[in-house]
Amino acid sequence: MEEIKIDKIIRSRRKTIALVVSENAALIVRAPMAVTLEYIQNLVFKKRLWINKKQQWVLRQGRFIRNKEFVDGEEFLYFGQLYKLKIWTGENIVLTDVLNFPTKYLKAAKPRMMMWYKHKALEIIRQRVLFYSQLTGWKFRSIKVTGAVKRWGSCGPMGSINFSWRLAMAPLAVIDYVVLHELTHVVEKNHAAKFWQQVKKFMPDYKIRQKWLKENGKFLNL
Ligand SMILES: [Zn+2]
Repeated sequence: MEEIKIDKIIRSRRKTIALVVSENAALIVRAPMAVTLEYIQNLVFKKRLWINKKQQWVLRQGRFIRNKEFVDGEEFLYFGQLYKLKIWTGENIVLTDVLNFPTKYLKAAKPRMMMWYKHKALEIIRQRVLFYSQLTGWKFRSIKVTGAVKRWGSCGPMGSINFSWRLAMAPLAVIDYVVLHELTHVVEKNHAAKFWQQVKKFMPDYKIRQKWLKENGKFLNL
């Protein structure tokens, strides 16, 4: 029988029991005053699969928020897929079933990797902007992928659109949302109701993609 450690029990005048997995994967039980320890332990045992899953998920997330170390086996996101890093003696960064990263780049690993992502992002984003431009009939002037960290995209007054290199880690569905969002700014400058109507017209499920980005955006980094 697999034991699940309860890190903390917080009793209060609440009426129900809540199991909470904290940011550092600790299990915290919030319980009413009168509930026995045995009852709590039984409940935790019953919910052990959920707790385990949740704790692993939290730990996995933690690995992503930490800065990358560029060591063998470390996981990197590439258009929504995870790839293990493999340090190799080759000349370039090459994606096979693993992400091969040259030993000679290790001295400046982060900027090298960022450049690679930037390049890949531009390839894909250019295609997607062209696709949505044709679909909507909205014309843009130029596309750039920048080193921006805080913003996913921006649209200048003359229709020049910029995207963050970090989008090369996002799933395509999410990239499409950012692309359509910025392209919509060619015709609607601010985020008024009209803006969202336009986005919805061409992407009825944009809210799901927007939510994904809001929740997972912090993992798209080096
Ligand atoms: Zn906007």
